This record gives sequence, C-alpha cells and structure tokens, in this order.
Amino acid sequence: MPTPQLTSTPRPSPLLPTVVVGGGLGGLAAAIHLALQGRNVSLYEKNERVGGKLNLHSAQGYTFDTGPSLLTMPWVLHDLFAAAGRNLHDYLELVPVDPICRYRWLDGTQFDAWQQLPRLIHAIEELEPADVQGLFRFLAYSSQIYSLIADRFLLHPFSGVHELFSPQMLRNGPRIDALRTMDSAVRDFFRSPYLRQVFNRYATYNGSSPYRTPATFNVIAYIEFAEGGWYVRGGMYQLARALLRLSEEVGVTVHTNCAVQQVLLDPHGRQVRGVRLADGTEQAAAHVIINADPRYAYTQLLPEQPAIRRTAHRLAQQEASCSGYVLLLGVARHYPQLAHHNIFFSHDYPREFAAIFEQHVPPADPTIYINASCVTDAEHAPDGHMNLFVLVNAPAANGRVDWSREAHGYRNIVLHRLEQMGLTNLSEHIVYQRIITPCDFAQWFHAAGGAIYGSASNEPFAAFARPPLRAREAHGLYFTGGGTHPGGGIPLVLLSGRAVAQQVQADQH
Ligand SMILES: Cc1cc2nc3c(=O)[nH]c(=O)nc-3n(C[C@H](O)[C@H](O)[C@H](O)COP(=O)(O)OP(=O)(O)OC[C@H]3O[C@@H](n4cnc5c(N)ncnc54)[C@H](O)[C@@H]3O)c2cc1C
Repeated sequence: MPTPQLTSTPRPSPLLPTVVVGGGLGGLAAAIHLALQGRNVSLYEKNERVGGKLNLHSAQGYTFDTGPSLLTMPWVLHDLFAAAGRNLHDYLELVPVDPICRYRWLDGTQFDAWQQLPRLIHAIEELEPADVQGLFRFLAYSSQIYSLIADRFLLHPFSGVHELFSPQMLRNGPRIDALRTMDSAVRDFFRSPYLRQVFNRYATYNGSSPYRTPATFNVIAYIEFAEGGWYVRGGMYQLARALLRLSEEVGVTVHTNCAVQQVLLDPHGRQVRGVRLADGTEQAAAHVIINADPRYAYTQLLPEQPAIRRTAHRLAQQEASCSGYVLLLGVARHYPQLAHHNIFFSHDYPREFAAIFEQHVPPADPTIYINASCVTDAEHAPDGHMNLFVLVNAPAANGRVDWSREAHGYRNIVLHRLEQMGLTNLSEHIVYQRIITPCDFAQWFHAAGGAIYGSASNEPFAAFARPPLRAREAHGLYFTGGGTHPGGGIPLVLLSGRAVAQQVQADQH
C-alpha cells in the first residue's frame, strides 16, 4: 500500500533544535552542514567516541584502525572543510598510498595496483599484455558511467526510484549498464583471470557480489584507478577527530555515551517533535536526522504505527550487505612482502560469494585483506613488529552461524591460509590478538546483522530501494549515512550528510 502523502501539517519552527542521532561520518557531516545553515544542532552518539564504523583500537603498543583503511574521493572531504571556510590541510595530512593494493594468489602470482601509470601498465603487461588496452577501454567505459550518474545520484539529494524514470535517465539507461553483472562486464575488458578477480573485487566496496551486482558499480574501480587512494597520517581515526573538531568549531553540541532511545512524534504520528534519551530526558526538535542504520531505526527507534511497521517490514525483506570477520594481530616480526594494503585471493571467487550470499556461512576458502598501517606509520607498532588488521568478508549475522563458537576455529582457517601464501609461521609470532565478528559490528553500531553497507546492491536497482533521505512517514524525519543514499563508504556517507542538510533546507522553503 502506498504511504499517504502528508500535506496538511504546519511547518516546524526553524528555532527548535535539530537533532542528529549517531556520530558516524554521515552524522558528523550532516551536523556540520546543518550548523553552517545557522541551526542549533545537537548530536547524540551512544558510544564513548564518535566515528561509528571508522574507529580505532590500541593495545600493547599496537594501534589498529578497526574500520575503513582507504580513503577515496578526497575532494569530498576538501569540499566539506571548504564549506566551513577551513582548509583540510590544517586538520589532516592525507598520504597517497602506492601501490594502492598488493594482490597475491596461491600460485605465487603477485600484482601491484600502482597509482603511477607507467608502473601500473608494466604490472598489467606482466600478467597479460592485451589487458593494457583493456584497462584503457575499461576506464573510458566506466568514466562514462560515472559522468552519467554522479550528478543525480552522488552529488545531490536523491528522492526515490521515480527519479530513474526521468527522460534523461531513460535515454541514458543502457549506458549505465545496470542490466548485466559486474563480472560479465569485467570479462569484456580483461582476459587475465587474475585481473578479472581484481576488478570484480570492487563489488565488495558496497558489500555485494560481483556475480550479481550491476555493472554500473564498475564506477568504484574507476574512481580508485583514475583518482587514487589515500591514508590519513596518524591513522584513519584522525578523520573522525578532525570532523569532531570542525563540528564543535561550527557550533554543534556533541554528546557521547548518550544513546537515543526513541524518536518522538506528535500524537497523530505525522510530525517529529524530538527524541527521548536513554536516561529518560526528552529533547524537543524540529528535525531529527537519523545516522543509525535505518533497519534498526524503523524497528527500535520509531514508534509502532502502521506506516512505520510497513517500512520496517519492507526493509527486513531486503538482502543485507556483507559483514566482516576481523583479526587484529600484533606480530613480533616483520614481513617485508607486505604493502600497506594487501589482498590474498581465494582460489574460487564465485564459490566464496555463494557461501556469503546464498549459504550465509563464512567462506571455507576466503579472500583475506590485510591492512598493515605500520608500513606507512611506523609508530603503529613497536620496532620490528607489525600491526595487522585482517579482514574477511562474512555474511551478515542471521542466526545461522554461532560466532561465539565459530570465531576461534575460523581464525585458524584464516591464519593457515596466510601461512600457505607466504606469511611463514605467522601464528607463532602473534603476541596480541583480538577477534571481531559480525555480531560485534551489530552490537557496537546498531547495524542490523553487522552488515557494513546497509542493504546489498545485488539486484539491478537495489541501490535505489534504500530508504530515502527524507522519511515518508513523518515530517521532520530524515536519514543520513550508509543505510540511505547514495550508499556506504567514507566519501558517500559524507556526501549523504551534505545532501540531507540540503534536503532539510529545501523543505523549509
Ligand atoms: C571493517 C570495515 C572496513 C571498511 N573499509 C572501508 C574503506 O576502506 N573505505 C571506505 O570508504 N569505507 C570503508 N568502510 C565503510 C565505512 O566505514 C562506512 O560506510 C562509514 O563509516 C559508515 O558511516 P555512517 O555515517 O553510515 O555511520 P556509522 O559508522 O554506521 O555510524 C552510525 C553511528 O550511530 C550510532 N548509533 C546507533 N544507534 C544509536 C542510538 N540509538 N543513539 C545514538 N547513537 C546511535 C552508532 O554507535 C554509530 O556511531 C569499512 C567499514 C568497515 C566496518
């Protein structure tokens, strides 16, 4: 049943505060842009520090970024600081990472994805000379997709699926390549099975499968290969610190250790009137911007009423993006073969994604990512040691895997595979260890099932079925962050923060 259009409720007073629920990057960006509009903004974060999935863990002389490790589209960050009249360089040092990633296979093959073009071409030639042409064709093709979708879907508020049916979109539809999969497009450009696996991997940047996600998402590889990738000096968490500092400078009041328990609506359930905090205090608000996962918000934060129940039900039917199984390892030796970012590929990629999305179990032969930030930031590990953040894509928790029993055994599978692939005797050199499972992500961030990127984009138009920035159920209720538009990943959630502020502003005029 369609959600009723709300037309008769009076507009809220702009003098009432604006509340942001959640201090993830999307929440912080939204709060900053809303404060820059002259609003009185309060942000509530349930955890002890802001940053959400971008977080850190320090122990025994090791520092680990526990979430994102690669920054792309840094211009989004520059724009955010510039909007506040600041220079990003006064807050952060961005370091280009080259190679962006070192890929390795069980047969000993290695491929470095260099940012410097001559080195990249040479590395591709070594795998398959014909694929150098393939790379240029791929970049031309994917840059075209990017130019067709960026303005409408990334840079401005996206209000719903109906936007897909504009004359311009209908004209350009075939060129955004939504009707075949990423894998089938990648096969058209690359002959090397190694390079096909490299380019298919970009589906995981939005938590999806390359064998199901539309080829449109080849823009992700385009952005990384054409624009590059960065690390933040001192650790990725410096980014959260910088956004916190900027938000306070522009007047946002940030409350940490302060969970929102409920979003309050008027007695008709049609207008936001504030939030109730976990301690029972009520905070009146003209607008509530939810940065928490929409699935959680519709079931836990919003009051029980038919329209909200219907949306909660619809969201529950959507396939979740993948989660992650993480080992934080302090290792008392140096592995010189490790770059800053490393991928150890599985032998059978289709089977790995079938395990995650069809059988909903952790893959028996997983692709393993290692972030060794000590390669760039020596102080992240004691002398002669390494800090290894080891990540495996895992299904979002849905009750089929009891991680409290499986977590330790899975560690042995991961370590054994890394030892087979050249990290000799790794297990013997571990002097610090922490395991993070999908259940931890779920609990720490209220992310349904621990899904990292909200709903998966495993169907042609799934990405557009995310909840919109402006909720349809009540006036004054909005979303920002990876669960809404344009999607997950650092730059996109920052864009989401800007877009929601633009939407709030537009709705008042
Ligand atoms: C392991 C991992 C690796 C990743 N790698 C990369 C990468 O390399 N590059 C990249 O660009 N992206 C990466 N990402 C994705 C990126 O981290 C996320 O897309 C992004 O940080 C999500 O931001 P968000 O604004 O959606 O909010 P979230 O980070 O989900 O934050 C939401 C916040 O809301 C808070 N909250 C929830 N409920 C309440 C409540 N009731 N009251 C108050 N607060 C509440 C939560 O505690 C949380 O802080 C990675 C993520 C993970 C987990």
